[in-house]
Amino acid sequence: MILPIRSFGDPVLRKVGHEIGQDYPHLEELIANMFETMHSASGIGLAAPQIGLDIRLFCVDVSPLAEDEDYEDIAEELKNFRKVFINAKILEESGAEWKFNEGCLSIPDVREDVKRKETILIEYFDENFVKHTETFSDIRARVIQHEYDHIEGTLFTDHLSSLKKKLVKGKLAKIMQGDVSVNYKMRFPK
Ligand SMILES: [Zn+2]
Repeated sequence: MILPIRSFGDPVLRKVGHEIGQDYPHLEELIANMFETMHSASGIGLAAPQIGLDIRLFCVDVSPLAEDEDYEDIAEELKNFRKVFINAKILEESGAEWKFNEGCLSIPDVREDVKRKETILIEYFDENFVKHTETFSDIRARVIQHEYDHIEGTLFTDHLSSLKKKLVKGKLAKIMQGDVSVNYKMRFPK
């Protein structure tokens, strides 16, 4: 089932997600719905707050990037990089900061460069509640960092300089009012 994606301005996007247990109701169905919702919106990551739940859960599927010539060198790895992160905790971020032009399904039509460190060490449970402690780099770390921000109540626009923030302010105000055209299902606060 495709779920409406909450837009910028929805208070749920500002909540710090709480941990869930294996007994979380209909978890398997929820995860399936999140992947379906993300794919239908051509996204490569989706966090639970974006569909209205303040829990520590997000999904990543970067396989569409395997076709992109920018990622030729890691195409094989990207092709199979479809993961569920439950109760994730970033333990360490390291390496040089690099800029990437980020976007967000909750903030349509806004794309800005965001600086983040290149490597993360993260602890999480997968969809079967198996615990992992893994290191990720490159675009995979980037997508995870962006989604991880969501379960902390942070949006990529929070990372912008104050000048850039001023420049996107008008666009964000329009999004909050639903004054934006998107080809996927969204829910606006007003
Ligand atoms: Zn996002």
